[in-house]
Amino acid sequence: MLQRVNPGNKPLADYRSIIRRELYDEIVDLSQRLEGRRVLHVSATSFGGGVAEILYTLVPLMRDVGLQTEWDIMYGAEAFFNVTKSFHNALQGADYELTVEDRAIYEEYNRQSAEAIQKAGEDWDIMFVHDPQPALIKHFSGGLSPETKWIWRCHPDLSTPNRQVLDYLMPYIADYDAQIYTMREYTPPDVELPGLTLIPPAIDPLSPKNMALSGEDATYIVGQFGVDVERPFLLQVSRFDPWKDPLGVIDVYRSVKEEIPEVQLVLVGSMAHDDPEGWDYWQKTVNYADGDPDIFLFSNLTNVGSIEVNAFQSKADVVIQKSIREGFGLVVTEALWKARPLVAGRVGGIPMQVDGGGGILIDTIPEAAAACTKILKDPDFARQMGRQGKEHVREHYLTPRLLRDDLLLFAKLLGT
Ligand code: UDP
Repeated sequence: MLQRVNPGNKPLADYRSIIRRELYDEIVDLSQRLEGRRVLHVSATSFGGGVAEILYTLVPLMRDVGLQTEWDIMYGAEAFFNVTKSFHNALQGADYELTVEDRAIYEEYNRQSAEAIQKAGEDWDIMFVHDPQPALIKHFSGGLSPETKWIWRCHPDLSTPNRQVLDYLMPYIADYDAQIYTMREYTPPDVELPGLTLIPPAIDPLSPKNMALSGEDATYIVGQFGVDVERPFLLQVSRFDPWKDPLGVIDVYRSVKEEIPEVQLVLVGSMAHDDPEGWDYWQKTVNYADGDPDIFLFSNLTNVGSIEVNAFQSKADVVIQKSIREGFGLVVTEALWKARPLVAGRVGGIPMQVDGGGGILIDTIPEAAAACTKILKDPDFARQMGRQGKEHVREHYLTPRLLRDDLLLFAKLLGT
Protein backbone atom coordinates (compact mmCIF):
# COMPACT_ATOMS: atom_id res chain seq x y z
CA MET A 1 0.00 0.00 0.00
CA LEU A 2 1.12 3.56 -0.60
CA GLN A 3 1.74 5.86 2.32
CA ARG A 4 -1.67 6.85 3.69
CA VAL A 5 -2.09 10.29 5.21
CA ASN A 6 -4.15 10.87 8.32
CA PRO A 7 -5.46 14.41 7.95
CA GLY A 8 -7.54 14.46 11.14
CA ASN A 9 -11.17 15.56 11.58
CA LYS A 10 -13.11 18.63 10.51
CA PRO A 11 -16.87 18.93 10.95
CA LEU A 12 -18.63 20.90 8.20
CA ALA A 13 -20.94 22.27 10.92
CA ASP A 14 -18.04 24.36 12.23
CA TYR A 15 -18.11 26.36 8.99
CA ARG A 16 -21.78 27.17 9.23
CA SER A 17 -21.37 30.62 10.69
CA ILE A 18 -18.70 31.61 8.16
CA ILE A 19 -20.41 30.69 4.89
CA ARG A 20 -23.76 31.45 3.28
CA ARG A 21 -26.71 29.31 4.34
CA GLU A 22 -27.51 28.28 0.73
CA LEU A 23 -24.00 26.92 0.21
CA TYR A 24 -24.25 24.89 3.40
CA ASP A 25 -27.61 23.45 2.35
CA GLU A 26 -26.33 22.64 -1.11
CA ILE A 27 -23.45 20.62 0.38
CA VAL A 28 -25.80 18.72 2.67
CA ASP A 29 -28.06 17.89 -0.28
CA LEU A 30 -25.17 16.68 -2.46
CA SER A 31 -23.66 14.63 0.35
CA GLN A 32 -26.95 12.78 0.79
CA ARG A 33 -26.80 11.81 -2.89
CA LEU A 34 -23.20 10.62 -2.52
CA GLU A 35 -23.44 8.93 0.89
CA GLY A 36 -20.96 6.07 1.30
CA ARG A 37 -19.13 6.60 -2.01
CA ARG A 38 -15.41 5.83 -1.89
CA VAL A 39 -12.87 8.42 -2.96
CA LEU A 40 -9.09 8.05 -3.10
CA HIS A 41 -6.93 11.16 -3.49
CA VAL A 42 -3.38 10.57 -4.75
CA SER A 43 -0.70 13.25 -4.63
CA ALA A 44 3.10 13.46 -4.62
CA THR A 45 3.59 14.85 -1.13
CA SER A 46 1.75 15.40 2.12
CA PHE A 47 3.98 18.28 2.99
CA GLY A 48 4.66 21.71 1.50
CA GLY A 49 2.93 23.54 -1.31
CA GLY A 50 -0.67 24.16 -2.16
CA VAL A 51 -1.96 20.66 -2.93
CA ALA A 52 -1.09 19.29 0.51
CA GLU A 53 -2.51 22.41 2.08
CA ILE A 54 -5.85 21.88 0.34
CA LEU A 55 -6.10 18.15 0.98
CA TYR A 56 -5.57 18.51 4.73
CA THR A 57 -8.95 20.23 4.79
CA LEU A 58 -10.79 18.73 1.87
CA VAL A 59 -10.25 15.10 2.84
CA PRO A 60 -11.62 15.48 6.41
CA LEU A 61 -14.60 17.48 5.12
CA MET A 62 -15.40 14.85 2.50
CA ARG A 63 -15.33 12.25 5.26
CA ASP A 64 -17.49 14.37 7.52
CA VAL A 65 -20.21 14.65 4.89
CA GLY A 66 -20.33 10.88 4.47
CA LEU A 67 -17.90 9.90 1.72
CA GLN A 68 -15.33 7.19 2.47
CA THR A 69 -12.31 9.25 1.60
CA GLU A 70 -8.61 8.43 1.81
CA TRP A 71 -5.43 10.20 0.69
CA ASP A 72 -2.33 8.30 -0.49
CA ILE A 73 1.14 9.60 -1.30
CA MET A 74 2.67 8.05 -4.41
CA TYR A 75 6.12 6.48 -4.44
CA GLY A 76 8.96 8.88 -5.11
CA ALA A 77 12.68 9.36 -4.63
CA GLU A 78 15.11 12.10 -5.49
CA ALA A 79 15.55 11.06 -9.13
CA PHE A 80 11.76 11.07 -9.62
CA PHE A 81 11.26 14.45 -7.96
CA ASN A 82 14.07 15.93 -10.06
CA VAL A 83 12.22 14.81 -13.18
CA THR A 84 8.81 15.97 -12.00
CA LYS A 85 10.19 19.34 -10.93
CA SER A 86 11.62 19.71 -14.45
CA PHE A 87 8.20 18.75 -15.83
CA HIS A 88 6.55 21.30 -13.56
CA ASN A 89 8.92 24.06 -14.69
CA ALA A 90 8.59 23.00 -18.33
CA LEU A 91 4.79 22.99 -18.12
CA GLN A 92 5.02 26.57 -16.90
CA GLY A 93 7.18 27.41 -19.93
CA ALA A 94 10.80 26.66 -18.96
CA ASP A 95 13.31 25.16 -21.41
CA TYR A 96 13.76 21.44 -20.97
CA GLU A 97 14.76 18.50 -23.14
CA LEU A 98 12.58 15.48 -22.42
CA THR A 99 14.96 12.51 -22.42
CA VAL A 100 14.29 8.79 -22.63
CA GLU A 101 15.91 8.40 -19.19
CA ASP A 102 13.64 10.98 -17.57
CA ARG A 103 10.58 9.39 -19.11
CA ALA A 104 11.69 5.99 -17.81
CA ILE A 105 12.11 7.31 -14.25
CA TYR A 106 8.75 9.07 -14.37
CA GLU A 107 6.94 6.05 -15.74
CA GLU A 108 8.57 3.61 -13.33
CA TYR A 109 7.38 5.45 -10.18
CA ASN A 110 3.91 5.84 -11.65
CA ARG A 111 3.84 2.15 -12.56
CA GLN A 112 4.93 1.09 -9.07
CA SER A 113 2.40 3.39 -7.45
CA ALA A 114 -0.42 2.08 -9.65
CA GLU A 115 0.60 -1.46 -8.81
CA ALA A 116 0.53 -0.69 -5.07
CA ILE A 117 -2.97 0.74 -5.38
CA GLN A 118 -4.17 -2.37 -7.20
CA LYS A 119 -2.48 -4.71 -4.73
CA ALA A 120 -4.21 -2.97 -1.82
CA GLY A 121 -7.37 -4.44 -3.33
CA GLU A 122 -9.68 -1.58 -2.37
CA ASP A 123 -12.54 -0.42 -4.59
CA TRP A 124 -12.90 3.25 -5.41
CA ASP A 125 -15.78 5.10 -7.00
CA ILE A 126 -13.57 8.12 -7.61
CA MET A 127 -9.81 8.21 -8.14
CA PHE A 128 -8.77 11.82 -7.65
CA VAL A 129 -5.22 12.33 -8.95
CA HIS A 130 -3.46 15.62 -8.23
CA ASP A 131 -0.98 17.31 -10.55
CA PRO A 132 1.48 15.89 -13.09
CA GLN A 133 3.56 13.73 -10.74
CA PRO A 134 1.03 10.85 -10.44
CA ALA A 135 -0.71 11.53 -13.78
CA LEU A 136 0.21 8.15 -15.32
CA ILE A 137 -1.28 6.14 -12.48
CA LYS A 138 -4.48 5.72 -14.45
CA HIS A 139 -2.55 4.40 -17.44
CA PHE A 140 -0.86 1.74 -15.30
CA SER A 141 -4.01 0.86 -13.33
CA GLY A 142 -5.56 -1.68 -15.62
CA GLY A 143 -6.79 -3.73 -12.68
CA LEU A 144 -9.12 -1.22 -11.10
CA SER A 145 -12.85 -1.52 -11.57
CA PRO A 146 -14.24 -0.23 -14.87
CA GLU A 147 -16.86 1.58 -12.78
CA THR A 148 -14.20 3.78 -11.20
CA LYS A 149 -14.28 7.40 -12.40
CA TRP A 150 -10.93 9.14 -12.78
CA ILE A 151 -10.34 12.83 -12.12
CA TRP A 152 -7.09 14.63 -12.82
CA ARG A 153 -6.68 17.91 -10.94
CA CYS A 154 -4.23 20.39 -12.45
CA HIS A 155 -2.88 23.13 -10.18
CA PRO A 156 -0.27 24.88 -12.35
CA ASP A 157 -0.90 27.20 -15.27
CA LEU A 158 -0.49 25.26 -18.53
CA SER A 159 -1.22 28.12 -20.90
CA THR A 160 2.36 28.56 -22.21
CA PRO A 161 3.85 25.10 -21.81
CA ASN A 162 6.97 23.47 -23.14
CA ARG A 163 5.47 21.50 -26.01
CA GLN A 164 7.56 18.34 -25.57
CA VAL A 165 6.35 17.68 -22.03
CA LEU A 166 2.80 18.73 -22.82
CA ASP A 167 2.57 16.48 -25.90
CA TYR A 168 3.95 13.59 -23.90
CA LEU A 169 1.53 13.96 -20.98
CA MET A 170 -1.66 15.03 -22.69
CA PRO A 171 -2.77 11.70 -24.15
CA TYR A 172 -2.61 10.18 -20.66
CA ILE A 173 -4.48 13.09 -19.15
CA ALA A 174 -7.12 13.14 -21.87
CA ASP A 175 -7.93 9.58 -20.88
CA TYR A 176 -9.30 10.74 -17.49
CA ASP A 177 -13.06 11.14 -17.14
CA ALA A 178 -12.60 14.73 -15.98
CA GLN A 179 -9.76 17.23 -15.91
CA ILE A 180 -10.09 20.03 -13.40
CA TYR A 181 -8.33 23.31 -14.10
CA THR A 182 -8.41 26.43 -11.95
CA MET A 183 -9.54 28.65 -14.79
CA ARG A 184 -10.01 28.45 -18.54
CA GLU A 185 -6.96 30.62 -19.18
CA TYR A 186 -4.74 27.88 -17.68
CA THR A 187 -5.79 25.15 -20.04
CA PRO A 188 -3.18 24.10 -22.57
CA PRO A 189 -3.49 25.59 -26.05
CA ASP A 190 -4.75 23.42 -28.95
CA VAL A 191 -5.69 20.46 -26.78
CA GLU A 192 -9.13 18.87 -26.76
CA LEU A 193 -10.44 18.54 -23.21
CA PRO A 194 -13.79 16.78 -23.30
CA GLY A 195 -13.87 16.37 -19.50
CA LEU A 196 -12.85 19.94 -18.75
CA THR A 197 -14.18 21.25 -15.43
CA LEU A 198 -13.24 24.63 -13.97
CA ILE A 199 -12.87 24.78 -10.19
CA PRO A 200 -10.65 27.28 -8.39
CA PRO A 201 -8.95 26.14 -5.19
CA ALA A 202 -9.79 27.52 -1.76
CA ILE A 203 -8.39 28.03 1.73
CA ASP A 204 -9.57 26.72 5.07
CA PRO A 205 -10.65 29.61 7.30
CA LEU A 206 -10.47 27.40 10.41
CA SER A 207 -7.04 25.82 9.92
CA PRO A 208 -4.17 26.91 12.16
CA LYS A 209 -2.83 28.78 9.11
CA ASN A 210 -5.95 30.90 8.68
CA MET A 211 -7.94 30.94 11.91
CA ALA A 212 -8.41 34.29 13.60
CA LEU A 213 -5.41 35.30 15.71
CA SER A 214 -5.62 38.33 17.95
CA GLY A 215 -3.34 41.23 17.04
CA GLU A 216 -1.62 40.70 20.37
CA ASP A 217 -0.89 37.03 19.72
CA ALA A 218 0.34 37.70 16.18
CA THR A 219 2.66 40.44 17.44
CA TYR A 220 3.95 38.21 20.22
CA ILE A 221 4.79 35.39 17.79
CA VAL A 222 6.41 37.66 15.18
CA GLY A 223 8.49 39.36 17.89
CA GLN A 224 9.94 36.01 18.94
CA PHE A 225 11.62 35.72 15.56
CA GLY A 226 13.59 38.91 16.06
CA VAL A 227 11.48 41.10 13.76
CA ASP A 228 11.03 44.59 15.24
CA VAL A 229 7.27 44.73 15.83
CA GLU A 230 7.36 48.52 16.23
CA ARG A 231 8.52 48.92 12.63
CA PRO A 232 6.63 48.00 9.44
CA PHE A 233 7.47 44.88 7.49
CA LEU A 234 6.79 43.53 4.02
CA LEU A 235 6.16 39.79 3.76
CA GLN A 236 6.33 37.12 1.10
CA VAL A 237 5.43 33.54 2.00
CA SER A 238 6.44 31.16 -0.78
CA ARG A 239 8.55 28.23 -1.75
CA PHE A 240 12.09 29.30 -2.72
CA ASP A 241 11.62 29.01 -6.41
CA PRO A 242 12.45 31.27 -9.39
CA TRP A 243 8.75 31.55 -10.30
CA LYS A 244 8.04 33.10 -6.90
CA ASP A 245 10.87 35.60 -7.48
CA PRO A 246 12.26 36.09 -3.96
CA LEU A 247 15.20 38.04 -5.43
CA GLY A 248 12.73 40.44 -7.05
CA VAL A 249 11.06 40.86 -3.66
CA ILE A 250 14.39 41.92 -2.18
CA ASP A 251 14.73 44.50 -4.99
CA VAL A 252 11.25 45.80 -4.17
CA TYR A 253 12.15 46.07 -0.47
CA ARG A 254 15.40 47.91 -1.26
CA SER A 255 13.53 50.41 -3.35
CA VAL A 256 10.86 50.94 -0.65
CA LYS A 257 13.61 51.34 1.96
CA GLU A 258 15.03 54.33 0.10
CA GLU A 259 11.82 56.20 0.97
CA ILE A 260 10.88 54.46 4.22
CA PRO A 261 14.16 53.51 5.91
CA GLU A 262 12.54 51.73 8.86
CA VAL A 263 10.88 49.08 6.67
CA GLN A 264 11.85 45.41 7.14
CA LEU A 265 11.38 42.37 4.89
CA VAL A 266 10.34 38.88 5.96
CA LEU A 267 10.64 35.98 3.51
CA VAL A 268 9.07 32.75 4.68
CA GLY A 269 9.54 29.65 2.58
CA SER A 270 8.68 26.03 3.02
CA MET A 271 10.96 23.29 1.81
CA ALA A 272 8.79 20.70 0.10
CA HIS A 273 9.96 17.08 -0.32
CA ASP A 274 9.15 17.18 -4.00
CA ASP A 275 11.10 20.40 -4.60
CA PRO A 276 14.82 19.63 -4.83
CA GLU A 277 15.55 23.10 -6.21
CA GLY A 278 14.42 24.70 -2.97
CA TRP A 279 17.78 24.64 -1.18
CA ASP A 280 19.73 26.11 -4.12
CA TYR A 281 17.29 28.93 -4.34
CA TRP A 282 17.27 29.48 -0.60
CA GLN A 283 21.08 29.89 -0.73
CA LYS A 284 20.79 32.25 -3.70
CA THR A 285 18.32 34.35 -1.72
CA VAL A 286 20.55 34.41 1.37
CA ASN A 287 23.46 35.60 -0.78
CA TYR A 288 21.32 38.24 -2.44
CA ALA A 289 20.15 39.55 0.96
CA ASP A 290 23.84 40.21 1.58
CA GLY A 291 23.68 40.27 5.37
CA ASP A 292 21.09 43.07 5.58
CA PRO A 293 19.92 42.90 9.23
CA ASP A 294 16.42 44.05 8.22
CA ILE A 295 15.88 41.07 5.90
CA PHE A 296 14.65 37.94 7.66
CA LEU A 297 14.57 34.52 6.02
CA PHE A 298 12.62 31.76 7.71
CA SER A 299 11.39 28.33 6.73
CA ASN A 300 9.48 25.39 8.11
CA LEU A 301 12.89 23.96 8.99
CA THR A 302 13.54 26.89 11.32
CA ASN A 303 10.33 26.40 13.23
CA VAL A 304 7.96 28.42 11.05
CA GLY A 305 4.88 26.25 10.86
CA SER A 306 1.26 27.11 10.12
CA ILE A 307 0.62 29.21 13.23
CA GLU A 308 3.74 31.22 12.62
CA VAL A 309 2.82 31.78 8.96
CA ASN A 310 -0.59 32.90 10.22
CA ALA A 311 1.07 35.36 12.63
CA PHE A 312 3.36 36.80 9.95
CA GLN A 313 0.46 37.14 7.50
CA SER A 314 -1.82 38.68 10.14
CA LYS A 315 0.77 41.21 11.23
CA ALA A 316 2.40 42.16 7.89
CA ASP A 317 1.96 45.77 6.78
CA VAL A 318 2.03 44.66 3.14
CA VAL A 319 1.91 41.13 1.79
CA ILE A 320 3.79 40.73 -1.48
CA GLN A 321 3.36 37.89 -3.95
CA LYS A 322 5.73 38.75 -6.73
CA SER A 323 5.16 35.60 -8.73
CA ILE A 324 6.26 35.44 -12.35
CA ARG A 325 4.06 32.38 -12.97
CA GLU A 326 1.40 31.21 -10.61
CA GLY A 327 -1.34 28.65 -10.53
CA PHE A 328 -3.75 29.79 -7.89
CA GLY A 329 -1.55 31.42 -5.26
CA LEU A 330 -3.09 30.13 -2.05
CA VAL A 331 -0.91 32.59 -0.16
CA VAL A 332 -2.67 35.47 -1.92
CA THR A 333 -6.04 34.34 -0.66
CA GLU A 334 -4.61 33.60 2.79
CA ALA A 335 -3.36 37.19 3.04
CA LEU A 336 -6.63 38.68 1.79
CA TRP A 337 -8.59 36.59 4.29
CA LYS A 338 -6.51 38.22 7.02
CA ALA A 339 -7.53 41.61 5.61
CA ARG A 340 -3.96 42.48 4.70
CA PRO A 341 -3.23 44.80 1.77
CA LEU A 342 -1.60 42.87 -1.02
CA VAL A 343 0.80 43.70 -3.84
CA ALA A 344 0.97 40.88 -6.35
CA GLY A 345 2.16 39.94 -9.81
CA ARG A 346 -0.44 40.15 -12.57
CA VAL A 347 -0.08 36.46 -13.43
CA GLY A 348 -2.03 33.22 -13.34
CA GLY A 349 -4.99 33.17 -11.01
CA ILE A 350 -3.95 36.24 -9.05
CA PRO A 351 -6.05 38.81 -10.99
CA MET A 352 -9.12 36.62 -10.43
CA GLN A 353 -8.24 36.25 -6.75
CA VAL A 354 -8.07 40.00 -6.16
CA ASP A 355 -11.00 40.75 -8.42
CA GLY A 356 -13.07 42.05 -5.53
CA GLY A 357 -10.38 44.44 -4.28
CA GLY A 358 -7.75 44.00 -1.61
CA GLY A 359 -4.75 43.92 -3.90
CA ILE A 360 -2.69 46.04 -6.25
CA LEU A 361 -1.54 44.16 -9.34
CA ILE A 362 1.95 44.90 -10.60
CA ASP A 363 4.12 43.93 -13.57
CA THR A 364 7.47 45.40 -12.57
CA ILE A 365 9.68 45.97 -9.55
CA PRO A 366 9.24 49.79 -9.61
CA GLU A 367 5.45 49.33 -9.75
CA ALA A 368 5.59 46.94 -6.80
CA ALA A 369 7.76 49.32 -4.80
CA ALA A 370 5.44 52.26 -5.54
CA ALA A 371 2.41 50.19 -4.45
CA CYS A 372 4.08 49.13 -1.18
CA THR A 373 5.11 52.71 -0.43
CA LYS A 374 1.59 53.99 -1.09
CA ILE A 375 0.09 51.40 1.27
CA LEU A 376 2.65 52.08 4.01
CA LYS A 377 2.04 55.82 3.80
CA ASP A 378 -1.76 55.67 3.75
CA PRO A 379 -3.21 53.51 6.57
CA ASP A 380 -6.83 54.35 5.66
CA PHE A 381 -6.29 53.12 2.12
CA ALA A 382 -4.61 49.98 3.51
CA ARG A 383 -7.55 49.27 5.84
CA GLN A 384 -10.09 49.72 3.09
CA MET A 385 -8.19 47.34 0.80
CA GLY A 386 -8.03 44.78 3.57
CA ARG A 387 -11.79 44.86 4.18
CA GLN A 388 -12.64 44.44 0.49
CA GLY A 389 -10.24 41.54 0.03
CA LYS A 390 -11.64 39.63 2.97
CA GLU A 391 -15.25 39.77 1.75
CA HIS A 392 -14.23 38.61 -1.72
CA VAL A 393 -12.51 35.58 -0.20
CA ARG A 394 -15.54 34.80 1.98
CA GLU A 395 -17.76 34.75 -1.09
CA HIS A 396 -15.53 32.74 -3.44
CA TYR A 397 -12.47 31.06 -1.99
CA LEU A 398 -13.24 29.20 1.24
CA THR A 399 -13.06 25.39 1.31
CA PRO A 400 -16.81 24.68 1.60
CA ARG A 401 -17.24 26.20 -1.89
CA LEU A 402 -14.49 23.90 -3.20
CA LEU A 403 -16.12 20.94 -1.47
CA ARG A 404 -19.47 21.80 -3.13
CA ASP A 405 -17.84 22.03 -6.57
CA ASP A 406 -16.02 18.70 -6.17
CA LEU A 407 -19.19 16.98 -4.92
CA LEU A 408 -21.12 18.34 -7.89
CA LEU A 409 -18.54 16.81 -10.22
CA PHE A 410 -18.66 13.45 -8.37
CA ALA A 411 -22.45 13.41 -8.65
CA LYS A 412 -22.27 14.16 -12.36
CA LEU A 413 -19.64 11.48 -13.05
CA LEU A 414 -21.41 8.85 -10.96
CA GLY A 415 -24.82 9.74 -12.34
CA THR A 416 -26.41 10.16 -8.90
N1 UDP B 1 3.53 27.75 2.96
C1 UDP B 1 3.81 27.49 4.28
N2 UDP B 1 5.01 27.81 4.77
C2 UDP B 1 5.94 28.40 4.02
C3 UDP B 1 5.66 28.66 2.65
C4 UDP B 1 4.42 28.32 2.15
O1 UDP B 1 2.97 26.98 5.02
O2 UDP B 1 7.02 28.64 4.53
C5 UDP B 1 2.19 27.43 2.47
C6 UDP B 1 1.40 28.67 2.10
O3 UDP B 1 0.87 29.27 3.27
C7 UDP B 1 0.38 28.11 1.14
C8 UDP B 1 1.14 26.98 0.45
O4 UDP B 1 2.26 26.66 1.29
O5 UDP B 1 -0.71 27.58 1.85
C9 UDP B 1 1.66 27.42 -0.92
O6 UDP B 1 0.63 27.40 -1.85
P1 UDP B 1 0.61 28.32 -3.13
O7 UDP B 1 -0.59 27.97 -3.92
O8 UDP B 1 0.72 29.76 -2.71
O9 UDP B 1 1.95 27.97 -3.89
P2 UDP B 1 2.57 26.60 -4.44
O10 UDP B 1 3.70 26.31 -3.49
O11 UDP B 1 1.51 25.55 -4.42
O12 UDP B 1 3.06 26.95 -5.82
